[in-house]
Amino acid sequence: MLKEGQKLAIDWLPDKNSKEPVYKQIVNYINRKISSGDWTIGSKLPSQRFLAECFSVNRSTVVRALEELCSYGILEGTTGKGTMVTSNTWSVLMSNAPPDWGDYLRAGTFQENVPTVQMINKLEFEKDIVRLGTGELSPDLFPAEMMREVLQKLPDRFPSLNYLGPLGLPELRRALSLRLKKQGIDADPSCILITSGSLQALQLISVCMLKPGSVVYTESPSYLKSLQVFPSAGMKLTGIPMDRDGIQYWDIGNQTENSRNEAAVDMEDALLYTIPTFHNPTGTLMSETRRKELFRFCSNHRLPIIEDDAYGELWLEEEPPKPLKTMDHHGMILYLGTISKTLAPGLRIGWLVGPESVVERLGDVKMQIDYGASSLSQWALAELFSSGLYDKYLIDLRHKLKLRRDFALSLLEKHFRGLAQWDVPKGSFYIWLKLLVDIPTDQLFQRMLKEQILINPGNIYDFQKNKSIRLSYSYAEEVSLENGIEKMADVIRKMR
Ligand code: PMP
Repeated sequence: MLKEGQKLAIDWLPDKNSKEPVYKQIVNYINRKISSGDWTIGSKLPSQRFLAECFSVNRSTVVRALEELCSYGILEGTTGKGTMVTSNTWSVLMSNAPPDWGDYLRAGTFQENVPTVQMINKLEFEKDIVRLGTGELSPDLFPAEMMREVLQKLPDRFPSLNYLGPLGLPELRRALSLRLKKQGIDADPSCILITSGSLQALQLISVCMLKPGSVVYTESPSYLKSLQVFPSAGMKLTGIPMDRDGIQYWDIGNQTENSRNEAAVDMEDALLYTIPTFHNPTGTLMSETRRKELFRFCSNHRLPIIEDDAYGELWLEEEPPKPLKTMDHHGMILYLGTISKTLAPGLRIGWLVGPESVVERLGDVKMQIDYGASSLSQWALAELFSSGLYDKYLIDLRHKLKLRRDFALSLLEKHFRGLAQWDVPKGSFYIWLKLLVDIPTDQLFQRMLKEQILINPGNIYDFQKNKSIRLSYSYAEEVSLENGIEKMADVIRKMR
């Protein structure tokens, strides 16, 4: 659906050599968009200036076309509100009009992303855009040679690429069980479910394990807040403040009373989602003491935990404290891992570790949703783990990421002193830039877009207004990172 300010993929231009007047071509184009159901009734059109830029015409040509469409009753312009699609009746006369997809789209239960997240998801793939916030490895960190070696061997390893059983490839689950054991997590292969990325694990939990109305506690800010997975299933996300040691667990359940009286805590049907190791977006590493206290608190209150360990292997100087899951001997924690951050999100492989009963139930639903994660990716990963190639690669990756982090920190020292505060991340991809100047970050986002630079404003992760920016040193090339950071400092200074 169209949203004001959203950059539309208008990949059409009027033919200026055609005999048909340009404004008429625009009328026909917009009508086609509406009659095909791409632009639904109730959608808001971008501004006239934006359309004129897209079509490479004068604004007066756009105005003429819109006026004609308004006169047919297809569009309606309201002062101050912009132009809306109000009907497709004209197209009924002109062609076989489809049903009003807008009504159907509004009826679904899965909520739309917030507009800024929608824009980021689209703009990341625009040509020449510099991505300063992307949580992925840069293409030059991708181990092409290692992947070639593994993929070449694969046809001798797998008997076919047929569907796999509900929990995923046994060879991969066995390899993961061994890796987890080295970390101190005791998990038989029967307690491991392979998912299509850890996002899918969250989706499965939301539809299988929680009642509508139940509360999901999480750090404030949190990656989870940028997603609609839990709210779409009727759960209420509740943010808990953090300090440098991690989540301030004593605030769980006390948001309304604003007291630290643990007796008042009501956690029935609730759950805690946490990213203790290199938290997204702040990079915070939960201390060992806080981990122990948090685990004790949750055990005492019978509050189950989802521990998201997407970044745990990406430490830069020293190993982080062990995952919470290592303390769990009664099946209180569902532990999530993924290959997306250390190697390649496009493989779409994650894993969930939990009690057999939970893994079986989620596996059954997974079969109804996609009948298993990619068999090819699972075979490739099993081979990478068992051959030892993956561990060798990780050593090299940590070294390269550390260089990138140090480079980004040196740029911040140079350009952001006095403009922002930040901590030195001990792992993963992100520097959480807390702006010291009072400027609206959504406006900064738009201003940076004009410079062809995409940033991730803190607002998309937080429960309240947030003045920070999630800067990533893992994705942009050195030169782009340098120019991008310098430019951002310039723009902020001008906006002050
Ligand atoms: N958890 C965290 C903390 C993440 O940052 C991400 C990706 N941004 C995910 C989960 C989702 O990863 P996947 O590609 O495995 O679905």
